[in-house]
Amino acid sequence: MNPYLRGKPLPQTHTRPPRLSTILFGAPYYPEHWDPSMWERDAQLMAKAHFNTVRMAEFAWDRLEPRKGTSAFSLFKEVNALLGGYGSRTILCTPTATPPRWLTRAHPEVLRVMPDGRRCTHGSRQHACYASEAFRRHGRRITRAMAQAFAQDPNVVGWQTDNELNCGFSECVCPNCQVEYRRFLKRKYGSIDALNGAWGTAFWALTYGDFDDVEIPYERRPGSENPSARLDYYRYLSHIAVRFQREQVRELRRANPDWFVIHNGIFQHLDYYELSKDLDFLGFDNYPAFRLDTAPTKAEGAACIASRLDQARSYAGNLIVPEQQGGPGGQKAYLHDNPRPGEMRLWSYQSLAHGADGILHFRWRTCRFGAEEYWCGILDHDSVPRRRYREAQQEGAEFARLAADLLGTHVHIDVGILHSPEQDDAHRALSLGLPTPLEAAEHLHRALWMGKFAVGYVNPADGFHGLKLLVVPHLAMCDQELASKLTHYVEKGGTLLIGARSATKNMDNVVIEETPPGLLRDLAGITVEEYGKRPERHYRIILEQEVMPALWYEVLQPTVAKVLATWRGGHIDGQPAVTLATVGEGKVIYVGTYLARETADWIARLAVQQAAVEPLLTDVPSAVEVTIRESERGKLLFLLNHGDQPHTLRGLPGGLDILHNEPVGEELQLAPRQVAIIAIGD
Ligand SMILES: [Zn+2]
Repeated sequence: MNPYLRGKPLPQTHTRPPRLSTILFGAPYYPEHWDPSMWERDAQLMAKAHFNTVRMAEFAWDRLEPRKGTSAFSLFKEVNALLGGYGSRTILCTPTATPPRWLTRAHPEVLRVMPDGRRCTHGSRQHACYASEAFRRHGRRITRAMAQAFAQDPNVVGWQTDNELNCGFSECVCPNCQVEYRRFLKRKYGSIDALNGAWGTAFWALTYGDFDDVEIPYERRPGSENPSARLDYYRYLSHIAVRFQREQVRELRRANPDWFVIHNGIFQHLDYYELSKDLDFLGFDNYPAFRLDTAPTKAEGAACIASRLDQARSYAGNLIVPEQQGGPGGQKAYLHDNPRPGEMRLWSYQSLAHGADGILHFRWRTCRFGAEEYWCGILDHDSVPRRRYREAQQEGAEFARLAADLLGTHVHIDVGILHSPEQDDAHRALSLGLPTPLEAAEHLHRALWMGKFAVGYVNPADGFHGLKLLVVPHLAMCDQELASKLTHYVEKGGTLLIGARSATKNMDNVVIEETPPGLLRDLAGITVEEYGKRPERHYRIILEQEVMPALWYEVLQPTVAKVLATWRGGHIDGQPAVTLATVGEGKVIYVGTYLARETADWIARLAVQQAAVEPLLTDVPSAVEVTIRESERGKLLFLLNHGDQPHTLRGLPGGLDILHNEPVGEELQLAPRQVAIIAIGD
């Protein structure tokens, strides 16, 4: 039995919590970088910071197998036992993010070939191709050897596959990928005629005679490329990463089915919904400083991070943070701001508020050498415990107290925004200079987050249960299955908001021949009569008051919908811009412009009003974040002050502040960077 797991696996959906029996707390640890004489003191300091988990070995292939076929696992066995004695169990990692030099020298073909045709050299990470036969074989071999060696180790509770698949590099055009890409297409289409038909190769005389004619896309090929071919290449990249991981997961589960298996994301050209099917829970590496260092305000920065956390949670439903920022990150030409006192802890609580049940601070101690000499950890290079260590210590003590209340709860959302990496990739293949659906949706997420609404993302393949409002943010590709699901959702009483350009393509990334919005026409009760870019230069929208359009306009022709707003200006003056249809017990709002900074506020207001969605709290300053985690046991209200000023919150539901174990009435003082978690019952 795994001491960190309880219950049976739950179906994959956005309301699924991890089945953990404890909140994981600790850090990635690299004993291979430090003299063994330091390990025991490290273990003592970890115990004093209430660590229960360390993650190890993701970059240690050269230590684990110094030469081909030689296994050297004693270092990690020794450290596992030592840390176990001080209360920390281990998440081991398959070390395939950094294949050792003997492997890349014996098999130079495992190195990626970048889209410009140049092959990677050894010397960084993620430089091997997930489709390479030799790399996959060695990946399975080292995974099997490690899994068998640690199968009986009572201190190992779980595994992380690889490290940050597709981070830095996601593309490869090596000769092996060329072969594998053709195989992938042949499996998908069966015949070359089917591929020609699906891709529309009649355009620019692209027609292929057989699958060997199809070339993998290099950069700077002559001319613009076929968007269907480009999307299938992105799908291929996701496929080889998912397959690469699956081969490792099989080895791990075969050796010890009680282990949990995670992976840490999230990056481009990878369908994490698909990847998560092989995992117990998904990890999200959370480095808020990437956003906060450039955000105009703390609230704007916090909203960005909230969106990323919600995006990560949408794939597997459950979430842990295997790398939570534990100091300023520095690589190449950048170094983040050092988190101010209280900020690191605040960020950890933000992760918990968005569904995480595990926080590992990256990293235990700043490394003295290598590409991340200044990717700072809880401890500085000199191992002296300072304020970041003390802050982690506080978190550890608090998380241990909170575990009983927090575990088994999931994040409550009223508003779900559809998000799928495949739709974003389809868009990237021919973007017209418009933001991806996710980039556009982030504006709506921010507006709703600022308004204290319970908002999150939902995968189109997921269920839409519990959502009062569902948003289709410019998802161009639509099939009958999605159209039927959306129709069912509305008929049962849901409110659907459809953004411009939705359902304008089939799943091959080819424009439909029907009038837009194609399969959603009947549901929306409109057709699109005219469209174009940059409406902000010529037109406005009249919705009670005048509001701005952004990036794209559509002139709508209602069939059964009623008009909520009209265009002003030029030849489209007075024509419908926003409509509302009643379908079954629900409603469909169609908005004939794009989600953007200029439009998100009025679109959010309109949508929540039509869907009768109430904010979680009212009269709360923008810098104070509000979320709810819930279960059948009740609700936990998270309040996080991301600002530099204290705030008095009024009109609270009242309950017990479980962080400080104090009753809370209608009013609460929240100091800068402080957090409250209030159990409010039903
Ligand atoms: Zn390749």
